[in-house]
Amino acid sequence: MLFSQLQDLGVDGILVAPGFGYEAVGEKLFLEKREIERKFEQVYEMSKRFRFYSTPMYLKFLKGERQLECTPWGNPTRNPQGWKAPCYLITDAHYPTYREMMEKTDWEKYGVGKDPRCGQCMMHCGFEPTVVSEIGKSWKDIWEMILWELS
Ligand code: SF4
Repeated sequence: MLFSQLQDLGVDGILVAPGFGYEAVGEKLFLEKREIERKFEQVYEMSKRFRFYSTPMYLKFLKGERQLECTPWGNPTRNPQGWKAPCYLITDAHYPTYREMMEKTDWEKYGVGKDPRCGQCMMHCGFEPTVVSEIGKSWKDIWEMILWELS
C-alpha cells in the first residue's frame, strides 16, 4: 500500500486532496463528489494509522461528515505572470501585486453553488483555510486540533 511504502521511506506526513472534474477538463477523468466522499471514508480510517498533515476537520469534510465553505484567497498562488485569481485551480486574472488581487477580485462570485467551475471542488487549497478561520468557534474542534497536533 502506498501510505505504508511512504512511511517506510521516511516521509514525515501525508497531505491528501481529491482531484475533481470541471467543465474545462471535458472528459470524465475524475471522481464525482459522492464518489470522493466514499473514497475518503477509507482514507479517514487510514489517517488513524499514518501521520497525516491534512486536518481532521478537512478529512471529515472530504467524507461528507461536515460542511465547509471555500476560502479562495486562503492559499494565494503567484506564478511568473503575477498573483493568480481567484485560486490555484481557476485563473480568471493575474495581478502584479497581492494587494491588487485582494482588492479587485470579486470573491463573492466563487465557491460551490456560485461558479459552475467550483461545483465538484473539495481541494485543500480552498477548504483547509476555512478550517483555520473557523477553528476558534468550537471547543470540540479546538480539542480535536490539539490532539491532532500532538499525534
Ligand atoms: S471552490 Fe475550488 S475552484 Fe472554486 S474558488 Fe474555491 S478552491 Fe477555487
